[in-house]
Amino acid sequence: MSECLFCRIAAGEIPATLVAENDQAIAFQDVNPQAPVHVLVIPRAHHSDVSEMVAADPLLAGQVLALAAEVAEQEGLADGYRLVFNTGAKAGQSVFHAHAHVMGGRDLTWPPG
Ligand code: 5GP
Ligand code: ZN
Repeated sequence: MSECLFCRIAAGEIPATLVAENDQAIAFQDVNPQAPVHVLVIPRAHHSDVSEMVAADPLLAGQVLALAAEVAEQEGLADGYRLVFNTGAKAGQSVFHAHAHVMGGRDLTWPPG
């Protein structure tokens, strides 16, 4: 059994609220939402962060982005949303399985903290 939390969610071993999926990626609700819409999009395969995923499998990265855009449309975020890959502990990454945060449904300030 994998020790990676998001691999376990992808395998169905830990429950999550699924929002969308494609062959290579899944999208589910963040357990601690920071906006009215806060969905995580992950590759089914394990990659530690977005840089490692792009280097190892750029087509997979495209699948993750495609699903993120689909989630934004499905969740009614046509007027604006933020797509964030926290990469490395210094940037706030806490789960080391690549994931995009799709956030929206409120005004989002810039720059982020
Ligand atoms: P990071 O800080 O790595 O960019 O983002 C990790 C995200 O995963 C956080 O927003 C956190 O709320 C979310 N998260 C952590 N554990 C779980 C979990 O067990 N289930 C779900 N759905 N989200 C989680
Ligand atoms: Zn993993």
